[in-house]
Amino acid sequence: MTSDVIVVGGGVGGLTAAALLTHRGLRVRLVEAGSRLGGKAGTTYVDGVPLDTGPSVLTLPHVIEAVFDEVGLPKSERFEVIELSPSFRYVFPSGAEVLFHHELGETFASVESSLGARARAELEDYLSYSRQIWEAAAPHFVMGPAPEVSRLLRGGPRIWGAVRQIDALRTLRSAIKSRVKTPELVSILERYATYNGSDARTAPATLGCIAHVELGLGGFGVRGGLRAVVSALERALQRAGAQIELATKVTGLLFSGRRVRGVETTRGTFLAESVVLGADLGQWQGSFPSGKVPGSGETASMSGYNAIFLRSKAPDPMPRLAPHTVFFPENYEKEFADIFDEGRVPEEPTIYVCAQDRCHKTQSFPDREPLFTMVNAPALSSSRSLPGAEAIAERIRERLVTAKLLSAEDELVWSRSPSDLAREFPGSGGALYGPASNSMMSAFRRVPNRLPDCDGLYVASGSAHPGGGVPLAVQSGRLAADCVIQERTMG
Ligand SMILES: Cc1cc2nc3c(=O)[nH]c(=O)nc-3n(C[C@H](O)[C@H](O)[C@H](O)COP(=O)(O)OP(=O)(O)OC[C@H]3O[C@@H](n4cnc5c(N)ncnc54)[C@H](O)[C@@H]3O)c2cc1C
Repeated sequence: MTSDVIVVGGGVGGLTAAALLTHRGLRVRLVEAGSRLGGKAGTTYVDGVPLDTGPSVLTLPHVIEAVFDEVGLPKSERFEVIELSPSFRYVFPSGAEVLFHHELGETFASVESSLGARARAELEDYLSYSRQIWEAAAPHFVMGPAPEVSRLLRGGPRIWGAVRQIDALRTLRSAIKSRVKTPELVSILERYATYNGSDARTAPATLGCIAHVELGLGGFGVRGGLRAVVSALERALQRAGAQIELATKVTGLLFSGRRVRGVETTRGTFLAESVVLGADLGQWQGSFPSGKVPGSGETASMSGYNAIFLRSKAPDPMPRLAPHTVFFPENYEKEFADIFDEGRVPEEPTIYVCAQDRCHKTQSFPDREPLFTMVNAPALSSSRSLPGAEAIAERIRERLVTAKLLSAEDELVWSRSPSDLAREFPGSGGALYGPASNSMMSAFRRVPNRLPDCDGLYVASGSAHPGGGVPLAVQSGRLAADCVIQERTMG
């Protein structure tokens, strides 16, 4: 059977594109290599209990809600976000600690009581600057079609005004340091560069908007875990009526000239008028008529080591353990140089801990509590040889035992290295968010949702415009769907 559209990959971008295109009247076949949907928003099972292995913070939920609204998914079949208070606990080697909350006012008060009145004023000032960047950047660089330099050049005063407002000409680090002098706050704000796997030393100050997105608009838990977002997208897809093929890997793209004709899969040839790639593009090396994989010259975003420990709730149920905890090292600035210049895992890495049950209101086990952890690392393309997953998991354990979050006997039940990630997601090289945003031109060099050198080929994923992270990959799916419809309407 020839479909109107084949969507390759059931990550959140592919799911979105497939749901919208089906709802808009096309015959869509979604082909997923794995036995489950969700991609990097993944799940592992421990003693039959599901635990998230990917995202833990959801921002911009309205981007996903808009997909449900369009396909008419009833409210009861969607997901529920959770406002967390406290949300984050930041711990510094000096012994300083600060709690962040869902309500900004509470965060300001907490920063003042932990770091002083000057720190509070600095955060207030930075967040108002961050909000202005977001309001100027979102319509042109996130929600709208991929920005093009040519459009910028003929864009007139409106676009140029926006470019000035997004502070694209200096780096994130220099912008933060020009406004914030409290070292702990500098680290917290620089860490937002890692939300799309980028380098705070070179990324444009525009990425400063992520602070507003999380602190001003909200970084939420999701009842039941981030897998509930995937399940709701799956229900949207089913409601729309798309055909889903699991455990079917696409092994090649079929072209006639520059026109895509379908895909080769492990279960035969599937023909279609259009193909939407919802997976990392690096795997299609040599498949495109032009010979070059779009975006292949860009620096990859960070990868990461992950480990899940089961913390025994007895003797200490730890009522004050925050949903998210970040342990900063002595020299956080060096972490970016270790990862992007030296291609190595920092000697003393920043450790992120998500107490999943507290974050997502689950009760995974009666007597044990899952702690999902992460250490940033280089992607394979920019790294020397990297340690195995268990070696880093043991370093994480040591730090968490010192902090009394774990005991030496608590079980490590799952771990993953950048190499494991690269194997699980072909073409990613282990990068979590596609190409990094390490230069002021990154937004313009990002792969557009309609590939320019081929006809009928589109991209809906975190490795294309507008970038990585759940809401942006979902938006990528919407923009790719818009491109497909636009092209079909124009003939
Ligand atoms: C550990 C971790 C933590 C993260 N934390 C956050 C966070 O807190 N907040 C946030 O917003 N984001 C976070 N992210 C990023 C977010 O998960 C991703 O940006 C997003 O899920 C990517 O979606 P995608 O549409 O690009 O598809 P992907 O997730 O990349 O999925 C691609 C799918 O395509 C399939 N596929 C690949 N090749 C083929 C093929 N040849 N044939 C058929 N199928 C194929 C794969 O099996 C996969 O299912 C995190 C990611 C990870 C891994």
